[in-house]
Amino acid sequence: MTEPAPQDKTVTKDTSAEPDGGRKAPRVGVFVCDCGSNIAGVVDCGKVREAAEKLGDVVVAKENKYTCSDVGQAEIIKAIKEHGIERVVVAACSPRLHEPTFRNCIQQAGLNPYLLHMVNIREQCSWVHGHEKAKATKKALELVKMGVSKAARLEPLEAREVPVEPSSLVVGGGVAGIQAALDLANMGFKVYMVEKEPSIGGKMAMLDKTFPTGDCAICILAPKMVELSRHPNITLLSYSEVEEVKGYIGNFEVKVRKKARYVHEELCVGCGVCADACPVKVDNEFDLGFGQRKAIYVPFPQAVPLRYTIDKEHCIHFKSGKCLLCAKACANNAIDHKMKDEIVNLKVGTIIVATGYETYVPLRKGVYKYWECDNVITGLELERLLNASGPTGGHLVRPSDGKRPEKIAFIQCVGSRNKKIDRNYCSRVCCMYAIKNAQIIMEHEPNTEISVYYNDIRAFGKGFEELYHRVREEYAVEFIRGRPAKLKEDPTTKRITIRAEETLLNMITEREFDLVVLSTGLIPSEGSKSIGKTLGLTTTPDGFFAEAHPKLRPVETALDGVYVAGCAQGPKDIPDSVAQAKAAASSAAAPMFAKKVTIEPLTASVDEDLCVGCGLCVELCPYGAPELVTVEKGGTKARIIEALCHGCGTCAASCPQKAITCKQFTDEQIYSEIFAALGAEDKKGEGRKKAEAGVS
Ligand code: FAD
Ligand code: SF4
Ligand code: SF4
Ligand code: SF4
Repeated sequence: MTEPAPQDKTVTKDTSAEPDGGRKAPRVGVFVCDCGSNIAGVVDCGKVREAAEKLGDVVVAKENKYTCSDVGQAEIIKAIKEHGIERVVVAACSPRLHEPTFRNCIQQAGLNPYLLHMVNIREQCSWVHGHEKAKATKKALELVKMGVSKAARLEPLEAREVPVEPSSLVVGGGVAGIQAALDLANMGFKVYMVEKEPSIGGKMAMLDKTFPTGDCAICILAPKMVELSRHPNITLLSYSEVEEVKGYIGNFEVKVRKKARYVHEELCVGCGVCADACPVKVDNEFDLGFGQRKAIYVPFPQAVPLRYTIDKEHCIHFKSGKCLLCAKACANNAIDHKMKDEIVNLKVGTIIVATGYETYVPLRKGVYKYWECDNVITGLELERLLNASGPTGGHLVRPSDGKRPEKIAFIQCVGSRNKKIDRNYCSRVCCMYAIKNAQIIMEHEPNTEISVYYNDIRAFGKGFEELYHRVREEYAVEFIRGRPAKLKEDPTTKRITIRAEETLLNMITEREFDLVVLSTGLIPSEGSKSIGKTLGLTTTPDGFFAEAHPKLRPVETALDGVYVAGCAQGPKDIPDSVAQAKAAASSAAAPMFAKKVTIEPLTASVDEDLCVGCGLCVELCPYGAPELVTVEKGGTKARIIEALCHGCGTCAASCPQKAITCKQFTDEQIYSEIFAALGAEDKKGEGRKKAEAGVS
């Protein structure tokens, strides 16, 4: 049923009188939004509108049920035209949500889009003061009064367009980065992929089979890895790291360090003769310490690029100047112990960050005895032990004695959903990877007994619930509700006893197992932290990269032209990582297809006459926007690179000379709001005078 529209009331005033403080009074229109019952359920919007129409400068005040709707916007356009409105105040939700909507709207009516001011009476009013309706209405009224005062002082601004380089940088070569790079390359854009490890593939390359379909991980990933390496539009910079990023959307300048492999990629054919000759054996990180590799190595047989790398830390030649057995064995003269790191400079229009995750490492002195007991392993270590190309050829053995484990326990939520260690979130994949691995073990060794200690089983998604039930019913895997309190190792048998409170049975039990697998959670990777610092990306409290908007801009970051995909943004499974990578590629492609992008004009500007060139703004700006330049008149002055400036105001607030102004946040505009809030009319331009005199 359609509810009757609230009554629109229009007042027209004579605005020809002499304006305050010599200011020409503009004609202001106010539009108060009910937002259904979101605002009107708490704030008396009718009362706010009535008060607004009585304010000086206001020529029309209207109330709408949904101002952002087509009907609401048409109302604004009509009012602008009918009443000759010059400044618009929309009292509704956060400008973060609908400022672009209303800017477009007033532009359609012929107004400069920056002559809009949004007053937030939803997030800052009705949503936070739901229990105090009268006070919420009073606050909304005050906010509108302040908004009108500021709106009357808004200046028209012009947005600028800058060209966009049709190329993209993808940082991180896991499944998310690979998918994003392939999508962009297939759209015809040049892509540079930077991967810090000697091979792309990320964590998926380490997995055995994948839920929910049971495909072999590397069998579905390897063709994509090879496709990427052969794609004419993709340059793969493996064993490389981004050192510096300058510039802005459309025009990023990137410095990449290509670390010395000590093997020439163009000469190496990946035959492995060098590794056969190398006498050094060390733990292979890829097998998480269960397998070994040589000092000259590829991390895994399907590595891309299949080019060998010398591990400088363990190579005899770097310690004693001797050996060189690998170099002697290489028929292609590919090995060069004198190789140096190279710096590669790139120019790209957009950047996708897909730097993935790491798994939580249990505490050294924690409950789970991970560091003390050989037979307590993590889920990722289990993946390597189950993997046919892993260190045991896919035979599941107890690390303590190489025997087959007959009784296995999985412990869920290790490092997830735990306030004590500041990891409050659910890692989203651990329930399913434990269920998947339980199934794989039962398929190979049907006589195994498996128990899963859990808090809640989270089997969301296509086919996941079915897999959970199959594992319980067909394979008789036992699910025990309860978090283990204590683990104890038998020093002779190396079996582990788990003491736990089983909440469904309401009793404390002790059970003994041959092998305990900790389903460790997903945490932000060290690589994410370093690229986050280089780019200046923000994170959510859990440490993963923050999206520009969690619902509506899920792959964009606060930095224009920088997008995020996969587990770098938060824990997720492969299908979700791939879906997000595709979304990030489409978002990055949009400005590259358009070949240009609009730069917001809400930036800072420097008054050269006041600036003394102290450089404080250069030091403080989080976006590197101010620079010191030599000016014609002589001397050094600060200048703002507008495309980099986010208008945050840090520089303006800190400049000791008051030489910096932020457009639409001038001292005069802010003082006018303060005066309006305090009830003092700025009749004689007192705000401006005080601002000019530096009164704060
Ligand atoms: P990653 O795979 O972590 O890749 C990130 C890449 O970025 C890495 O190659 C890394 O070296 C690189 N990198 C990091 N920092 C930098 C930097 N600064 N510069 C350059 N490169 C950098 N999901 C499923 O759907 N099915 C399953 O069966 C399944 N099983 C799992 C089992 C376990 C034990 C675990 C822990 C997870 C499992 N997952 C599963 C989840 C799956 O691993 C992830 O969804 C997927 O790997 C995410 O891919 P990604 O590309 O986002 O990150
Ligand atoms: Fe073969 Fe030489 Fe490459 Fe080693 S470095 S894999 S020996 S080509
Ligand atoms: Fe191995 Fe280094 Fe000797 Fe080469 S020089 S064989 S990498 S130890
Ligand atoms: Fe930098 Fe913020 Fe000043 Fe712009 S307003 S120059 S982003 S400190």
